[in-house]
Amino acid sequence: MQHQTDQFQDIRSAVRQLCAEFPDAYFREIDAERGYPEAFVDALMKAGWLSAMIPEEFGGSGLGLTAASVIMEEINRSGGNSGAVHGQMYNMGTLLRSGSEAQKQRYLPKIAAGELRIQSMAVTGPTTGTDTTEIKTTAVRVGDRYRVNGQKVWISRVQHSDLMILLARTTPLAEVKRKSEGMSIFIVDVNHAMKNGMSVRPIPNMVNHETNELFFENLEIPAENLIGEEGLGFKYLLDGLNAERTLIAAECIGDGYWFIDRAAKYANERVVFDRPIGKNQGVQFPIADAYIEIEAANLMRFKAAQLFDDNKPCGAEANMAKYLAAKASWEAANVCVQTHGGFGFACEYDIERKFRETRLYQVAPISTNLIFSYVAEHLLGLPRSF
Ligand SMILES: Cc1cc2nc3c(=O)[nH]c(=O)nc-3n(C[C@H](O)[C@H](O)[C@H](O)COP(=O)(O)OP(=O)(O)OC[C@H]3O[C@@H](n4cnc5c(N)ncnc54)[C@H](O)[C@@H]3O)c2cc1C
Repeated sequence: MQHQTDQFQDIRSAVRQLCAEFPDAYFREIDAERGYPEAFVDALMKAGWLSAMIPEEFGGSGLGLTAASVIMEEINRSGGNSGAVHGQMYNMGTLLRSGSEAQKQRYLPKIAAGELRIQSMAVTGPTTGTDTTEIKTTAVRVGDRYRVNGQKVWISRVQHSDLMILLARTTPLAEVKRKSEGMSIFIVDVNHAMKNGMSVRPIPNMVNHETNELFFENLEIPAENLIGEEGLGFKYLLDGLNAERTLIAAECIGDGYWFIDRAAKYANERVVFDRPIGKNQGVQFPIADAYIEIEAANLMRFKAAQLFDDNKPCGAEANMAKYLAAKASWEAANVCVQTHGGFGFACEYDIERKFRETRLYQVAPISTNLIFSYVAEHLLGLPRSF
């Protein structure tokens, strides 16, 4: 299958070239040992790909979300998994958009130089799940510090990050007018926190995705680490969430093309009943169907990214892009397994690994039902259900 002919060919071929140094076997072995692709992440950072969105004045390349999404797409399209690194893109963005000048000067050049990783964002609480405004983790101001107590779950890449963005309630829910008020975001120095009140418990899971439970017991964060104004953290986070959803849509698009490439290749090569299996319409039509779905989802992904880059509202498009792309990549994954018959289950074909990896995105970072609910309420004017 041809690669897309868009204006990002230079980025596409450079990322593809880097990814070629980390072939399927690299990711397969790391998946088997549930390791972290350190060498791959280092290579991406050294080449500057993870600082693509940091403005040039802070040492980055000053590219937009659209270009960043192409980087993520190409990683997944090459057989890798951007889940190990994508946090760096959107978490940095939260700091860039809502951080103070001093915070930007302090962190962004080091992030751009690859000296600091900001891979983690801690939002989800164990008892409250998707109902984010109910989070139980609190940050109470005591002099020039905030004291944090509570618990988080599913917090990714903490063990491979220097900095983490933390959402905590600073004003009790009962005391705010709107439930989205009274929460704040902080920059947490992970190494310091691990020795001073934050403990980390890894969660073994279906994919090789480093994710953890976090426990906070009187963790003290300097007040200067508050991002923006106290109480407005949820609002600041939303832009970052739109970037996250759009990047993940692009990753799913990359996965989708990977599955379709593999399925089409195998359908051409595998001969059963004296003919390539792909000669049977029962085999080729589902591959064509999956390809059409990926192409359609890709349009919404570029629409969302463009709106974001134009500083226009993009919540609806980011959600819809993530929904369409995650669904399409999952369908492509299914078709790829089916086309490969028994070999779809063999680890050495990498399909089962990518199949597991792409499944995640219908649940995280936002589950499909919550996207339906957003569209129903905000676009269609249907009554709020929760
Ligand atoms: C591998 C992995 C990595 C993650 N990384 C991070 C991270 O780095 N940081 C972070 O903060 N979080 C992270 N998450 C958490 C993720 O964002 C949540 O799992 C996701 O938002 C769903 O929340 P939940 O698991 O609590 O499900 P719940 O909120 O318990 O929901 C369970 C199911 O019920 C459905 N549901 C719930 N309420 C309704 C309703 N009113 N109407 C219809 N359906 C409903 C949901 O759609 C879902 O399918 C990660 C999760 C995973 C699995």
